[in-house]
Amino acid sequence: VKICWFDDHRLGLVEDGQVFDVSPVLEMLEQPRYPRGRGDLLIANLERLRPLIAQAARQARGAPIDTVRFLSPVAQPTKIIGVPVNYLKHAQEAIDQIEVFTKRHQGSIREQGLFLKANSALVGPGEGVKLRLPDRRSDHEMELGVIIGKQGSDIPESEALSHVAGYAIALDMVVRGSEDRSFRKSIDTYAVLGPWMVTADEIADPAKLNLRLAVNGEVRQSSNTGLMILNIQEQIAWASQFYTLYPGDIIMTGTCEGVSQVRPGDVMQCSLDGVGEMTVAIS
Ligand code: MN
Repeated sequence: VKICWFDDHRLGLVEDGQVFDVSPVLEMLEQPRYPRGRGDLLIANLERLRPLIAQAARQARGAPIDTVRFLSPVAQPTKIIGVPVNYLKHAQEAIDQIEVFTKRHQGSIREQGLFLKANSALVGPGEGVKLRLPDRRSDHEMELGVIIGKQGSDIPESEALSHVAGYAIALDMVVRGSEDRSFRKSIDTYAVLGPWMVTADEIADPAKLNLRLAVNGEVRQSSNTGLMILNIQEQIAWASQFYTLYPGDIIMTGTCEGVSQVRPGDVMQCSLDGVGEMTVAIS
């Protein structure tokens, strides 16, 4: 199923081009107490709530998807994990344009390690990306977003996919420069996830998905998740050797070649097999 947050933090089920408001189901979640445990409460309880969500959708009136404002399909991740240089052709373009990408980060993924983006950067496509440093180059990075469903540490590769709740389109937006990635990639709105989460049971093989990004109608990035250097299982296993993964944690699995600068007024159109399409405005 496709689960989303939309408009004024309404919970939605997406079906046949319509969004059904299933927010009453949220009352089935435990009431928040301070301090609460780590992890996104909805994602952690999603399996249990799925029948109730389906039931609520049957009683709800649908709204066409182009009439709602999509927020991030994960409300409260404990972290957003980034995977650098995970497609060979992107690694090559980073070497070819060293003046843009700088020499700070070199070597293979394993040598560079993973990085984190601040949770406060997370938005949905309906919120758009707001450039904050107009004098510097900001780029799009179109990626497959993996959403963790089950807590785990030292997860073996053989069990990694059982920890995945679902998938979404991810944009790892970045200001180019020499500072640490966590600084340049954590600007407010520089982590876009959407337009909804497709649950893992609907994706037969996450390593066979075409992904594409166009800016103002011109295709800039086009690739397939099968071309990742480190696959999803390896990413989950590796990340969980360093930190516990919690429900709702997001992995941005790396960008393919074709990253390019965006400017205010641009519109990014993203599509990912099995998930769908989203449009994100730059201001
Ligand atoms: Mn990236």
